[in-house]
Amino acid sequence: MDDSRAYILFTMDVEIVAGSATASGPDSNAEGAQRIREYMEVLGERGFTPTFFVDPQLGSEQAELFLELRDAGAEIGMHIHAAKFSQDGRTDELGALTAAEQKAMLMRGLELFERHFQFRPRIFRPGCFSANDHTYGVLTELGFEGGSISIPGRVWMERYCEWSAAEPHPHYANAAMRQYPGSLPFVEIPLSVDRSQKHRHPLGFEYYFDLRPGDVYQSENVVPRDHRQVLENIVRQLAEEQPLLKTIVIDVHNDRDFRDLSQAPAQHLRTILDNLAPVLAAYGLNGVNATYTEAIRIFKAKADVRPRF
Ligand SMILES: [Zn+2]
Repeated sequence: MDDSRAYILFTMDVEIVAGSATASGPDSNAEGAQRIREYMEVLGERGFTPTFFVDPQLGSEQAELFLELRDAGAEIGMHIHAAKFSQDGRTDELGALTAAEQKAMLMRGLELFERHFQFRPRIFRPGCFSANDHTYGVLTELGFEGGSISIPGRVWMERYCEWSAAEPHPHYANAAMRQYPGSLPFVEIPLSVDRSQKHRHPLGFEYYFDLRPGDVYQSENVVPRDHRQVLENIVRQLAEEQPLLKTIVIDVHNDRDFRDLSQAPAQHLRTILDNLAPVLAAYGLNGVNATYTEAIRIFKAKADVRPRF
C-alpha cells in the first residue's frame, strides 16, 4: 500500500427544513436541493465525490435526487438528530438515549430510509456528533459498517457530545468505551480537527477548529479561522503521526452557498480545494478522493493484515 496517500472525504449533513431560527437546515426543500447540487458540482469540478448523510425524513421529498447523485458516484448514508426525529417532543440528542431507546429510534430511521431509498444505509452520522458508550454497539447490531460518530476534542454538554479524549484517526470502534479504539466490526472515521489549540465557542462548548466551510452555526456565532492554516495543521498531524489510514474529513450543511464566491462558505470551500494538493505535497502526501465506504474498505484491508490489540 502507498503510505503517501491521504484520503479526502467531503461530506454533507443533509438536514430537514429548519423548524426555527436557531435550528440547522435550509429554509425550504427547494433551497436544500439547490445547495446539495451546488456542492456536488463544485466538488465534481475537482474530481471529488461527496458522502451525503441524509435525514431519512427527507426521503419522501428528495429520494429521487439522492438516487441520481448516488448513480453519479456520491455515497448516501443516514443522519439522525434525535431531537428532530423523536416522536414524543423530547429535544435531547442521541447521546442522551439509553441503548434500547437508541436502537428503537435507529430502527425507525432505517425503516423510513429503506422505504424511500430502496436500500439499507451502511454508514451513519448522528446529529451534533452526539453519542454515548452504547452507540457503537447498537449501530453494529443494526448492520452499520462504519461512520462519522466522533468529533475529537469537542465537549458540549447540552448536546451530549463528549469527545475530550477521542482517538483522532480511523479505527475499529469500542463496544464499551466510545472514545478509544476497540474491536467492533464498525470503522469510525472521525471528523478531521486541528489539535494544535483548543478553543471555546460563543455557544459555550470546547472544541478544536475543523475545516467546515462557513461553519455550522448561526452567522453571529461564527468564529473566524484561517482555513488554509487549519488544513496545514491537520496535514502536519497526519505526516507526523502516520496513522494506519490517513484521512481528511470535511463536513458541510445543506443550508450554505458553495457556489457564489461573495459568500463565506463558497470562499472557504475554494480555499480548501485550492490548497489541498500543494499543502499535502509539502508534507510528502498525495490526496485521493474517497467516499466513506471506500475509505472503510481500505482501512479494513490495511488493519486486517496487522496484529490487533
Ligand atoms: Zn445534522
